[in-house]
Amino acid sequence: MSTALEKATNLRLSGISKSYGKAMAVRGLDLEIDGGHLVALLGPSGCGKTTTLRMVAGFERPDAGSIRIGAAEITHLPPHRRNLGMVFQNYSLFPHRTVAENIAFGLRMAKVGAAERDRRCADMLDLIQLQSRGDMYPAQLSGGQQQRVALARSLVVNPKVLLLDEPLGALDKSLRESMQFEIRGMQQRLGITTLLVTHDQEEALSMSDRVAVMSNGRILQIGTPSEVYDRPQTRFVAEFLGTSNIFEGTVSPDGVALMLPGGAVPAAVRLDRPQQPGATLTLSVRPERMTLGVAPANGPQFEARITGAVFRGNYAAYQVDVPSLKRELFVYRQADGPLGSVSFGLGEETALGWAPEDAVIVRPE
Ligand code: ATP
Repeated sequence: MSTALEKATNLRLSGISKSYGKAMAVRGLDLEIDGGHLVALLGPSGCGKTTTLRMVAGFERPDAGSIRIGAAEITHLPPHRRNLGMVFQNYSLFPHRTVAENIAFGLRMAKVGAAERDRRCADMLDLIQLQSRGDMYPAQLSGGQQQRVALARSLVVNPKVLLLDEPLGALDKSLRESMQFEIRGMQQRLGITTLLVTHDQEEALSMSDRVAVMSNGRILQIGTPSEVYDRPQTRFVAEFLGTSNIFEGTVSPDGVALMLPGGAVPAAVRLDRPQQPGATLTLSVRPERMTLGVAPANGPQFEARITGAVFRGNYAAYQVDVPSLKRELFVYRQADGPLGSVSFGLGEETALGWAPEDAVIVRPE
């Protein structure tokens, strides 16, 4: 199994649109996936991610725009001529064929000779670590094993691009986590350009080189997992990708502080340049960036009261009332004692704060 990074081709979508009647499912979408990289299209139900993937696969025809794999334009080619591999949520294996026959199916269609077919099929069984299961039927395998067979079946024909449509959606939580490692590892070893569609933020963050967050037929933000998580550009991205505390404030008359409901808070956020006095800013602060007990010396500090405390295994989650802000905030704290122990009690009064560099200005849309 060679590492094929130098041979990997990029996938480029330019100005892709698709309407169903009057409803626009995809609106002039641009997306480029570098050769050998995995990009996740992440968004809520109905945002247009499946439609986008189906246009790449050739099951839907775009109203406008073009799709290229490397230098080749594939926009109007039928699905079987696009040189793509595809894996769906529901495996879609042939139930009456053995694992080996399922894997070899695409090779048989391509009229590859029996000896070569057997060799490539055995390579694939090695890759997915099911060497001894070639003669079994899909129903005799676990869900995770069936999904590995589906992956092998799509990879055996050496596709230039792999499309994954909610591939782990049917698996239970613990299996999903190990399959995330497994699929990502395989994708990186093979160096195959991959588009993953998912509504599961954890899956997108943990499997991708870059995450494209979609809403309403458009990509709102694309970046590395840490860029989209730590530096969300819009309120939607901050709230869809994890939990966030959102504040609306007004820039003070001198342009350097932020007026929150309780008054001016000089260091609520690091302002790279003076802002327009009176302008409204929206801030996002992640719950795990909030501090309880002691507030960072250079950041804002509020009096707060614990109104909810729950144990989440490896961390504790608090709901905290901040009277001066006239609202409740979420705070996550890593365990300082036994894992996930809850160290603040209900009704306890304490200080709450954050470091100014942990607050991000987001667009309110
Ligand atoms: P999900 O995660 O629920 O699959 P999605 O983000 O993949 O959602 P799409 O399936 O791409 O979203 O759908 C985008 C929009 O286009 C939705 O409003 C959907 O109702 C509409 N749509 C999709 N396919 C069709 C179709 N064949 N006919 C009519 N409308 C469609």
